[in-house]
Amino acid sequence: RQGYGGAVSLAELGRCTWVFLHTLATQFPENPTKQQQRDAKELMMILTRIYPCKECAEHLTTVIEANPPKTSSGSEFSQWMCQIHNSVNRSIGKPEFPCRRVDMRWGSMNCEGNVCNLKGRPFRP
Ligand code: FAD
Repeated sequence: RQGYGGAVSLAELGRCTWVFLHTLATQFPENPTKQQQRDAKELMMILTRIYPCKECAEHLTTVIEANPPKTSSGSEFSQWMCQIHNSVNRSIGKPEFPCRRVDMRWGSMNCEGNVCNLKGRPFRP
């Protein structure tokens, strides 16, 4: 990938994945459909199988077994995601993040006209 920014490091992959996961969780509808709840759970289970870092995927499996995905509301899902990230933080010696601040950190997206925001929109497959 020379000339394209170099090889992707595990730290970069991790940071980008957390951006995606926390953004998804804070944008998740407060009243999700059954399908959306299933999709969110399945997404996390898929990561335990194909996240491209074996140690991380195995680690995520253990973390999720101890604390299965909570997807019955947007606030529950984003708090759960914060807890999961904190479990990973603890195990690799990083400081814990205060989960009450998760909306402040991840709750807004920089895109015009609310086009990124699932909240309040009916789910269309
Ligand atoms: P990151 O941990 O990537 O966090 C990015 C930003 O998120 C932080 O700057 C902070 O603002 C915010 N943040 C931090 N904690 C929280 C939280 N709890 N809730 C909300 N926001 C928060 N690395 C390993 O070495 N071993 C592993 O086993 C491992 N497993 C991983 C499993 C998964 C599913 C993922 C996505 C990543 C994993 N990583 C693992 C990578 C690791 O978590 C970090 O992404 C990487 O070390 C880079 O860390 P960072 O300090 O840049 O911040």
